[in-house]
Amino acid sequence: MDIKDITFSYDRKTDRLHAINAVIERGRITTIIGPNGCGKSTLLSVMSNNAAPRMGQVVLDGKEIAHYKPKELARQLAVVHQQNEAPSDLTVEKLVSFGRLPHKSMFTTNRDEDEEAVEWAIACTNLEERRTRTLDQLSGGERQRVWIAMALAQRTPILFLDEPTTYLDMYYQLEILELIRQLNKEHGLTIVMVLHDMNQAIRYSDVMIAMKEGRIIANGPPTEVVTSELIQEVYGVKVVIRQDDEAGMYLIPIGVGASGHLHVQRECKVPVLELSH
Ligand code: ADP
Ligand code: MG
Repeated sequence: MDIKDITFSYDRKTDRLHAINAVIERGRITTIIGPNGCGKSTLLSVMSNNAAPRMGQVVLDGKEIAHYKPKELARQLAVVHQQNEAPSDLTVEKLVSFGRLPHKSMFTTNRDEDEEAVEWAIACTNLEERRTRTLDQLSGGERQRVWIAMALAQRTPILFLDEPTTYLDMYYQLEILELIRQLNKEHGLTIVMVLHDMNQAIRYSDVMIAMKEGRIIANGPPTEVVTSELIQEVYGVKVVIRQDDEAGMYLIPIGVGASGHLHVQRECKVPVLELSH
């Protein structure tokens, strides 16, 4: 996928993406990082043709994505959004089967293929024992797996995931990341995701793209992108970067601002309770 000179604005006044250029390599895991509001989700929207750029184009397999028919693009690319909502009385099975919609037409139904894809998606995400439950009967981690399963049932070679681990505890975060890695390694899926945890991004990505204020600041392998200078520039956070025999490279935030000490506002004292007698 080729992202060429993408400039985007929601209101034709303020550009939220400024002349973005990047190549997303097939068969790789690419992770977009950057502070809140820097344009990560907006970029994913443009890359999936959910938002039209003011300038530039996104090219997939030699063709501009704006020229794909919606179903044609939905067979290439599935998206797990940052916020997902569905009626809570739908069962896991039913929701996952919605992923088959791009493959259906008025004239043909291929039930075997649909069933096979749904079964595969449910098995991959380990939801067999939850298949007849409704969304409101699931934990946060399970619910996130349902959204991923729905995207997998689309059987696309490319999968976008916007903050797939947010709101999950450590166990479920790793479970999702391991699943993503497995889909990449065993099924060759091209993954583009947004993560906030820098150590997880380092560990699970082949390529990292760092964004700030609608621009790409760095793009490359994690060991090249993640430097203390870059983190300082992008997040305004001072970090130390270490190496561990087992974990590899990792980072520890040690403070905000230029001083390197946690900035605590002086006025912000703990209130003293006035005890009345
Ligand atoms: P990120 O995903 O990196 O947190 P977003 O891509 O969601 O950031 O947002 C980038 C900028 O665009 C922010 O300033 C945000 O307020 C603005 N923005 C996001 N969505 C909309 C929208 N639907 N309409 C107008 N502005 C938006
Ligand atoms: Mg976002």
